[in-house]
Amino acid sequence: MAKRVHAAIGDNWISCLVCDGDTFRRREVKLNSTGMELFNLAWANESATGLICWSCGYVHLFTGGALRVYRAR
Ligand SMILES: [Zn+2]
Repeated sequence: MAKRVHAAIGDNWISCLVCDGDTFRRREVKLNSTGMELFNLAWANESATGLICWSCGYVHLFTGGALRVYRAR
């Protein structure tokens, strides 16, 4: 069973862009999968942190390491 998490960047708590929910499932996402090569991006071999909205399933993607994830109650 996936854990619910809250997430923040600095002092800004992240809420879902679609439904404004504040709990997510976390999933690491590889950015070098087929299709991303089309963009020819320098960070194409990195992984990103995906936050999947617990309520509606919208996937938010973050790179760069600034994201902090906290277990929700
Ligand atoms: Zn949502």
